[in-house]
Amino acid sequence: MQCREGCGACCVAPSISSPIPGMPNGKPAGVACNHLTAERRCAIFGLPERPQVCAAFMADEQVCGSSAEEALRILGWWEQATA
Ligand code: SF4
Repeated sequence: MQCREGCGACCVAPSISSPIPGMPNGKPAGVACNHLTAERRCAIFGLPERPQVCAAFMADEQVCGSSAEEALRILGWWEQATA
């Protein structure tokens, strides 16, 4: 599937353990990345300092569901299940 514009659930729900500019220890689950813009886009998209895990994430109906709210629920569930 195509990444849903204005979603940003994958920049909020999961924890990220690798360093992010301005967040040297990554980020905890459920906390918005400080590079997620008001338009729900990545402010450092395409830059080398963007974490590899972000570049590797591919939108998929199984994790992204049919809305941003559903994506937050599913990604949150996966975060807990794999913690
Ligand atoms: S660096 Fe960009 S893609 Fe990665 S979590 Fe932050 S806003 Fe999202």
